[in-house]
Amino acid sequence: MNLVLLGPPGAGKGTQAAKIIEKYGIPHISTGDIFRSNIKEGTPLGKKAKEYMDKGELVPDSLVIEIATDRLDRDDCREGFLLDGFPRTVTQAKALDDHLAVKDKKIDHVLDIKVEKEELISRLTGRRVCRNCGATYHAVNIPPKEEGICDICGGELYQRADDNRETVENRIEVYKSQTAPLINYYEKQGNIKHFDGSIGLENLFAEITGLLG
Ligand code: ADP
Ligand code: ZN
Repeated sequence: MNLVLLGPPGAGKGTQAAKIIEKYGIPHISTGDIFRSNIKEGTPLGKKAKEYMDKGELVPDSLVIEIATDRLDRDDCREGFLLDGFPRTVTQAKALDDHLAVKDKKIDHVLDIKVEKEELISRLTGRRVCRNCGATYHAVNIPPKEEGICDICGGELYQRADDNRETVENRIEVYKSQTAPLINYYEKQGNIKHFDGSIGLENLFAEITGLLG
């Protein structure tokens, strides 16, 4: 089962990803998470990626493609994988297809999650993330029991550097101009399905599992 999650920032890809990998036992590959962990560790890759991420711009294709395809070559991806945040440009999508074709593989389903712009902005600017376990909250909609503290592990909650309003608006614009064209790309391949991301996370998960079986 080779899956791609597509959708604007704030659509809920990360939340659905966590549920999908738990149910199907495939690895979750998030290029954003890979960059953030490199930033945390201060690696050269992290330093480079941070310049772009802090502005809400895309990290250059060549860099992202290398990181993602290396990750896909690992053993745990043999039975399938869930890509989240990659591909994000048509160039990346083509590189991904080429990389898989060499191994007689392909993308089975692209799950496209749609949410309106105002809702995306409110979700992202209110988002809080646990530094320790990565669980996400919302300052207003899904507050933790105790402010600033993760319900699950007691870790400290923080706001991502790119979740301020200005950067969020830029990320949405970048999505529209550079990532949304992928919808058409996969429409031609015939493997894309569209989902309404505003119906609640459990309902959305039910629709996704309805498709995946
Ligand atoms: P979101 O989907 O909420 O924007 P991600 O964690 O997927 O968050 O990505 C955060 C940032 O990481 C992006 O704004 C971009 O700078 C960088 N990034 C992640 N994946 C890619 C990619 N496939 N191509 C280019 N840049 C990427
Ligand atoms: Zn936690």
